[in-house]
Amino acid sequence: MPQEGRRLSGWTVAAVSTSSSGRRHIPLCGKREGCTRDIGHSDDHMNRNFESAVFLDRDGTITRLAGYMTRSGLLEIIPGAAESLVRLAHAGFRCILVTNQSAIGRGLMTVHMLREIHAKLQRLLEAGGARLDAIYDCPVAPGTDAETIVDHPDRKPGPGMLLKAATDLRIDLSRSWMVGDRLSGVLAGVNAGCRSIRVQTGYQYQDPVPNISCDYVTLDSVREAAEYILTESES
Ligand SMILES: [Mg+2]
Repeated sequence: MPQEGRRLSGWTVAAVSTSSSGRRHIPLCGKREGCTRDIGHSDDHMNRNFESAVFLDRDGTITRLAGYMTRSGLLEIIPGAAESLVRLAHAGFRCILVTNQSAIGRGLMTVHMLREIHAKLQRLLEAGGARLDAIYDCPVAPGTDAETIVDHPDRKPGPGMLLKAATDLRIDLSRSWMVGDRLSGVLAGVNAGCRSIRVQTGYQYQDPVPNISCDYVTLDSVREAAEYILTESES
């Protein structure tokens, strides 16, 4: 049965400091600021109406957990992920990866290494007939381990990557979904105005899962998540 929580009233930014000039800023640990889009540079969306999207976390949602994924050789697609993306795409959903990549901010991986990993991810998905319409990553290393605190607007649970995608690709967030294995992903989706699903193929929480003040659904895997989204979209 899906687990329901209470609705989140808003999101907060932690670690905001005020400089001597009085200007508020958020300290960044990575060399790059904010999120970037890897693929999905087509402008063909400019002539289309707003679309629905399914935002997908990477590790533990469509790929197996492997600690810091710093080599493409560690990539392994979770069974059913490619098939799920195909079904969602056929139903008209854009499939967009949104992934925290603090390994870059921590100096464990370069942007080039991440691009290679995501190029291989696309090849593996395409072998199953699926594709990601865009990939957004946030390289910022967090200033806190608390995954329910927005440490940087673009780092989940911040909604920044989803908001940027919505602007870039004309996405109606109110008709869109976020699927991830961690509460940070769940919150990023809710903070962006989407509906969220937590899958249980990745990060293992102590039982019970910490309560967070927002609505979300917990399902087994991305396969069940896709089924749920498609059913909900028909009703
Ligand atoms: Mg994950």
